Amino acid sequence: MTDHHRRPQSRGGKRTYGNIYRVVRYKHESYHLLFDSFAVPDMVKRFQFYFDLFGDSSPRTTDQNTYLQNWIRGERQRDRDGRIKRQAAWNNLFARMTIADILIEINNCWLDYAWRIVKVQTASGKILFVTQKILASARTS
Ligand SMILES: [Zn+2]
Repeated sequence: MTDHHRRPQSRGGKRTYGNIYRVVRYKHESYHLLFDSFAVPDMVKRFQFYFDLFGDSSPRTTDQNTYLQNWIRGERQRDRDGRIKRQAAWNNLFARMTIADILIEINNCWLDYAWRIVKVQTASGKILFVTQKILASARTS
C-alpha cells in the first residue's frame, strides 16, 4: 500500500488523516501518470480530456465515438505508446464505473479535500466538469 497526498506535498499538503488516501501502488501510479500532481484547475482540465477520450461504462453517443476515432487517428502517429499507457491507467482507476461512481471516488479519495468536481450537462448533451470549493463548515474530515 502507498500513501496518496490529496493535497500534494509540493503544494503544502501535510501527513494528516484527511489528506492521506491509502491505496495500492498500481492505482497510485496510474493516477499520477494521468494527473501528475497538478493543482485542482489543471487536474480537472486533464480529467475532462481523458473523460472525453476514454469515457465511462455508459454507452457512448455518436459524437463521442467520432471524437474518439478522430483523436486516435491523429494520435496514432504521434504518441501511440503514450495513449496506450494512459488508456491502461484510466482503466486501472475507473474501468466498469459510471461517471457518478467515478466522481464519488475522485472526490472522496483522490482530489484535494477542499474541492470537488461536479458534472454539468450542456443543452447539446456534452458533459462538462467544473470545480466547487467546499466550505470549511461543511467538511466532516
Ligand atoms: Zn499521490
